[in-house]
Amino acid sequence: MRYTQYLLPTLKETPGDAEVVSHQLMLRAGMIRKVAAGIYDYLPLGLRVIRKVESIIREEMNRAGAIEVLMPAVNPAELWEQSGRWQQYGKELLRFKDRKETAFCIGPTHEEVVTEIVRGTVRSYRQLPLNLYQIQTKFRDEIRPRFGLMRGREFIMKDAYSFDLDDAGADISYEKMYQAYRRIFTRCGLKFRAVEADTGNIGGSFSHEFMVLADSGEDAIVSCNSCEYAANVEKAEIRVTDAESAAPTASLTLISTPDCKTIDEVSSFLKVDPAATVKTLIVQTESGETLAVLLRGDRELNLIKLCRLLGCDDIELAADEVVQRVTGAPSGFAGPVGLQLRLLADREVASLSDFVVGANAVDAHYTGANCGRDFQVEQFADLREAEAGDACPRCTGHLEIWRGIEVGHVFKLGTKYSQAMGATVLDNQGQERTPVMGCYGIGVGRTAAAAIEQNHDANGIIWPMPLAPFQLIITMLNPKDQSVAEASEKLYAELVALGVEVLLDDRDERPGSKFKDAELLGIPLRVTVGARGLKEQNFELQDRRSGETSPLSVKGAAVSLQQMIGDALQVKG
Ligand code: ATP
Ligand code: MG
Repeated sequence: MRYTQYLLPTLKETPGDAEVVSHQLMLRAGMIRKVAAGIYDYLPLGLRVIRKVESIIREEMNRAGAIEVLMPAVNPAELWEQSGRWQQYGKELLRFKDRKETAFCIGPTHEEVVTEIVRGTVRSYRQLPLNLYQIQTKFRDEIRPRFGLMRGREFIMKDAYSFDLDDAGADISYEKMYQAYRRIFTRCGLKFRAVEADTGNIGGSFSHEFMVLADSGEDAIVSCNSCEYAANVEKAEIRVTDAESAAPTASLTLISTPDCKTIDEVSSFLKVDPAATVKTLIVQTESGETLAVLLRGDRELNLIKLCRLLGCDDIELAADEVVQRVTGAPSGFAGPVGLQLRLLADREVASLSDFVVGANAVDAHYTGANCGRDFQVEQFADLREAEAGDACPRCTGHLEIWRGIEVGHVFKLGTKYSQAMGATVLDNQGQERTPVMGCYGIGVGRTAAAAIEQNHDANGIIWPMPLAPFQLIITMLNPKDQSVAEASEKLYAELVALGVEVLLDDRDERPGSKFKDAELLGIPLRVTVGARGLKEQNFELQDRRSGETSPLSVKGAAVSLQQMIGDALQVKG
């Protein structure tokens, strides 16, 4: 590809609305362009990277025995009604009607459609196991699209769905996908961890998220400093030492706390440690039940743990009006004493005594509060977010917290969709059986973005060779110099003939700005062609990652470059 004939709108300035490095660099390198919130054009350079990620995924999915299909982006509501998700799925589902007033959605995921394929085409156990996958555009009306391709509304996903006759088969399909994912992300040159994730009501360790380590990651991941335990914070268990609660010594005392709403304000006003306070959070379930949850003042509530405890899908912190109505006071003063609501508490609260709580009145708190004596807790459970230093649930080690980007997710679904949609197959006894499913997603654009998060420096992107949009750039120092132009063209033609993906920078620009662009684009190898080098029969080779330069003999240059690229593409892992 010739630079002068390509569309490569690089930017000198960092766009102001891009918060994370990968988003900034994708815009600056002319890979993507924003069309609307969370909706992007993939410009030529960006598309080349997307295609690289897709082809690695495709090869590994095929190797693992999965079969490629392509399902429609537009799904009829009817199918989603059969699974029950037309009602359950929230606002992320983009719904619309056609000219006949028939309801449709744009698929955010394709369990319904794929289950319908199997329902209509698979009759016998002999056709199983079956794993169907596609690489396709999804739409999710994300509440906060951000970080470019990392959290878009329209994005490309690889989604796969396995069907097995029984549970044991489904576990094997799961394991195959787990291993395929390891290979995919290893081949993409990423540093990642597979962590246990929340499985909702499936249970067991049959959901793993593949997390790329990066400080900009939206997910917090917990891992043990001494054993293999790693989990999403949403799921991370905390070993609770069953410390006996100390007996109450203080009496319940109402204290005026003017303008103190937050735990910090209250604890500094009363000169107590936040850990000696207990906060009361008013929450509402999707069915409209309002209840109160107690947590040590310095802890955070984990809504997913609460959902699991209550067996519901969605719980939110109650709005200010609700808090006012049920506690009789504005937010910031809720407390358990005299509160007419179901009261749940984090286990840790059981070991506290003589603590500070809100008094359900403006500018007032109680000191000396104690569970059992001053109010009754219906149930104690692990409800808080794990923190660094917490005890590991599996060993005597401690938990560490780091940040990651979820690029892939493998999940054992069970029979949720096959059952709801009436997909059955006949087993070898002629009995109808409901196939056991698994689903497996990879965010294609997010993987490309994660690769940039892990591979960049102050000057731009540093593509791992397998994802690089071009493997090599030829920087012609002065295209008007005939010897330079001829040598560059010759090398370019030889490389193209050898199948090397090469960008020829034939622009009539200052060398400095050509070098800057080459670095910004992150092309792994740069060959500089200049009059001075040519006098010695040399090009100059630069490695983007190390920045090291070395002379490269003009003679045989193309073949040795092809060799270097081949070595860098070798699968490790
Ligand atoms: P998240 O928690 O980040 O919203 P999710 O649990 O909704 O992810 P899945 O439904 O498991 O994601 O989707 C499979 C994969 O699709 C994810 O692992 C991620 O790589 C990708 N993905 C999900 N949502 C987006 C998005 N809005 N933009 C880009 N990629 C996405
Ligand atoms: Mg999501």
